[in-house]
Amino acid sequence: MADNAENVNPNMVVRFERAPHTRFYMCRSCKNHLLSLQNQLFRDQGLNAIICQNAVNVSVENEDSSWTLNHHPVVNVLCNQCNTTQGQKFLRTPLPTRAVQEGRFLLYLNKMLYWDGNQVVYADTLQPAAED
Ligand SMILES: [Zn+2]
Repeated sequence: MADNAENVNPNMVVRFERAPHTRFYMCRSCKNHLLSLQNQLFRDQGLNAIICQNAVNVSVENEDSSWTLNHHPVVNVLCNQCNTTQGQKFLRTPLPTRAVQEGRFLLYLNKMLYWDGNQVVYADTLQPAAED
């Protein structure tokens, strides 16, 4: 059976505030907000990605479309506004680690922008991003 506990209500759009004390990640394609820095658990240096417990404003593909990433079964996670693949969600894995556990999200830095409290930068290079 599918676990619906972490499904985000598609009608509920979460927005973080751009303020000096806030830090959050956005979709690089459409600037949809994806997660706050507080939700970041780990950095995967090899994949240049963030591992977090949950993300907002995303849709998760059906388990029927699962595939294997570094020996872990995953499904793709898409921005629910522009449908760009942002990363993967880990399914139950025979090889859990401290970072990789069922239900967590892996989001790629080169797919995202980052609000650093002062300006919007590319999440992977931290170079200022052009605004609209
Ligand atoms: Zn998007």
